[in-house]
Amino acid sequence: MTKVLVVEDEQHLADGLRFNLEAEGYQVQVMDTGEAALEILKSDPAAFDVMVLDVMLPGMDGFSVMAEMRGGGQFVPTLMLTARGHPADVLKGFAAGADDYLTKPFDLAILIARIRGLLRRREWLTASLNAESTLSPASTTPTGQDVFKFGDKSVDFDRLELRVRDQVFPLTLMEANVLRYLILHEGKPVSRKRMLEEVWNLHEDTDTRAIDNFIVRLRRYIEEDAAHPLHVRTVRGVGYRFVAIPGKAG
Ligand code: CA
Repeated sequence: MTKVLVVEDEQHLADGLRFNLEAEGYQVQVMDTGEAALEILKSDPAAFDVMVLDVMLPGMDGFSVMAEMRGGGQFVPTLMLTARGHPADVLKGFAAGADDYLTKPFDLAILIARIRGLLRRREWLTASLNAESTLSPASTTPTGQDVFKFGDKSVDFDRLELRVRDQVFPLTLMEANVLRYLILHEGKPVSRKRMLEEVWNLHEDTDTRAIDNFIVRLRRYIEEDAAHPLHVRTVRGVGYRFVAIPGKAG
C-alpha cells in the first residue's frame, strides 16, 4: 500500500488531506511539526512513498525540513505546499530539494493528481530504463538496465545516484528526472517550456527559472568547469542540450 506522510499543522487541512488521500486508497500519517517528521524519517527512511510538506510550520519551516532531509540522504518524493503570491518560495522549495509544489489554497483533486504524478514518475523513471533501446547515444554502453554511462560519469536511476569518477552525488527524484529527460533527448535542444510540461507536468505559466536552478545543480556535479559546461549546454533563447561525449557529439 502506498504510504503518504503529510506534514501540516493546520488541523482542518490535515484532516481534509487525510480523508481524501485515504479515499484514494493511500495509507496516511500526519505529523504537525517538521521536527517530528524528520525524526520518523530518520528512524525509518523507507517508511513513506511520498510526502506532502507545508512550508508554514511551527518551529522549523518546510524549507529547512526539506534541506535537512536531502542533506541527510533522505529522498522521498516531496510535494511542497507554498503560500500563494510568493513565487520566490517555489524556487526556494525546489532549491531545498522539493520535487513539486502547489500553492495554497489548492484544489484537492489537483493535489491528488500531483501525488499520483510523483508516484508515476518514480515508476516511469525505473521502467523507462528497463527499455534499453530508448537509451541514446549508441556510443555509450549501459552496463546495467538502470545505469547510464557517459565518459567517466554514470547515473544510477534506481539508486538516484550520480557518479563522477570516485565521487557519488545523491540526486533527488526531480533532479534524476531532469537528467533523464535531457539524456533521452541527447544532442537535441529541449526548451524550458517543454521540460516544464513533460518533466513537471506543469502547463500553467510557471517561472522557468525553476528549471535553471536544477541545471545549475546538475552542472555542479557533472561539469569540470560549471561556467563552461560541456555536457549540459545552454541553447540561447531555447533551453538546454545534453551532450554525452563532448568531443564526439558536441
Ligand atoms: Ca501550516
